[in-house]
Amino acid sequence: MTMQAIPDLLRVKPGTRPSLAKIDPASTPGFDGDKAAAEDRLKELLEELAEFQERLWAEAGQSLLVVLQALDAGGKDGLIRKVISAFNPQGTRVTGFGVPSEEELRHDYLWRVHAATPGKGRIGVFNRSHYEDVLVVRVNELVPKSVWKQRYDQINAFEATLAANDTRIVKLYLHISREEQRERFLKRLTDPEKHWKWSSADLEAREKWKDYRAAYTDALARCSTDLAPWFIVPADHKWYRDLAAAEILVAAARQMNPKWPKPEDDLAKVVIPE
Ligand code: AMP
Ligand code: MG
Repeated sequence: MTMQAIPDLLRVKPGTRPSLAKIDPASTPGFDGDKAAAEDRLKELLEELAEFQERLWAEAGQSLLVVLQALDAGGKDGLIRKVISAFNPQGTRVTGFGVPSEEELRHDYLWRVHAATPGKGRIGVFNRSHYEDVLVVRVNELVPKSVWKQRYDQINAFEATLAANDTRIVKLYLHISREEQRERFLKRLTDPEKHWKWSSADLEAREKWKDYRAAYTDALARCSTDLAPWFIVPADHKWYRDLAAAEILVAAARQMNPKWPKPEDDLAKVVIPE
């Protein structure tokens, strides 16, 4: 099967500059099956992720951090519902990063992020992240260029610190097309169950499509490292998005390979009183 290659195909090689315009958001690299085949494969992968999480928790020695970034309607929430849900909620924390609070703004931009990183045995998922501080913050000029341009190195140093302390970092950029974003926005306007997702601020960001593309390209180019790689996940097809994310997580899980801890006693000799 070709599917093992997905993580390698989607990983941004350190030191390279991806051309987002050349990556078709409707493509399905490394997978030539249909939606039904992808769903079958996804089921297997989710079982493996569930088993991994139990070992990670039991071992209590490593952490997994999953960073999700995308333009509005890119599918972060759907991915959490369909893939991250494989993990036991007891050992998993999803943190959404929105507009910083007053208190958060009184600190450096990594303060709230560091506080949300997973402890040993835990999985942390960032729904948006410190990357907003070189994306929306850069595009909307919320801080001067002299400030944000230093952040790529700062982010790499921060992530290297986490990695050196047994946190495995997987960063997924969900890549959707302008047409698909429009379709999804239209659904938010016409489907009463999606009305709540509509935010007129999303239109402002859509108007700055080119600026966001440039900002994303810099973040992907400058902050994909061996210790904390970025993956560009074509995400117009939700079924491919979920499959690819699960393949990437399974590959990371296999490398982390947490071990069951040694039992505290010679269990064969333990007698349970009647
Ligand atoms: P949502 O993900 O739809 O809940 O929206 C969260 C909003 O918070 C998005 O519009 C982000 O651009 C915005 N946001 C996240 N982080 C920051 C930040 N550091 N500074 C300013 N806005 C941010
Ligand atoms: Mg939104």
